[in-house]
Amino acid sequence: MHILVVEDEKKVAAFVRAGLEEQGFSVEVCHDGNTAAAIATTQAFDGIVMDIMLPGRDGLSIVRKLREGRNTVPVVLLTARGDLDERVEGLNLGADDYLAKPFSMTELIARLNAVLRRHNGGGLAMQSYSDLSLNLVSREVRRGETKIDLTPREFSLLECLLRRPGKVVTRVEISQTVWGHQFDAGTNFVDVAIQRLRRKVDDPFPRKLIQTVRGIGYALQTDT
Ligand code: CA
Repeated sequence: MHILVVEDEKKVAAFVRAGLEEQGFSVEVCHDGNTAAAIATTQAFDGIVMDIMLPGRDGLSIVRKLREGRNTVPVVLLTARGDLDERVEGLNLGADDYLAKPFSMTELIARLNAVLRRHNGGGLAMQSYSDLSLNLVSREVRRGETKIDLTPREFSLLECLLRRPGKVVTRVEISQTVWGHQFDAGTNFVDVAIQRLRRKVDDPFPRKLIQTVRGIGYALQTDT
């Protein structure tokens, strides 16, 4: 698998390259938007990891250019934390996923593998597990036919668990992914947020999906 990494921060680019190469991807790195647009539209890649804020030309306009040219290469955008409009715009333009900075390499690899799988199966910006489904574009959440209203934070929290169905996600990982900061063992804000999420996602339904893994974290898993 040949991946193009577009990132002007050289340290981040080197970190991403090393992580992807370790996973067996072949990687080409590019540090500016104009070069990236030229390479991405003329060479074949299996996937692109692209920062939005770039010198020369921004990542969103490169995605637009690719899609206008009927190029469906999967794109994972790297976004500034908290910039929801930018992420939604990216997805609407045809990016396949986004990852807020700072991110972990494990998370990037999981997202990239997911978009590569979806691309090969021809999917949508949908994530689902059991009867739960999240639409990353419209931010709509459902269990079966029942629509569930979540706050943006609750959506991120559920999305964080849904990224790794059946696997334990630690409080530290949740805290970094959803709140963007280090987990302080002396606080219980993750547990409090999970409790609130359960009231909406699990309490009204017979089958519970959010499981506590004592002393470690939480997992999205059916209880039957
Ligand atoms: Ca940048």
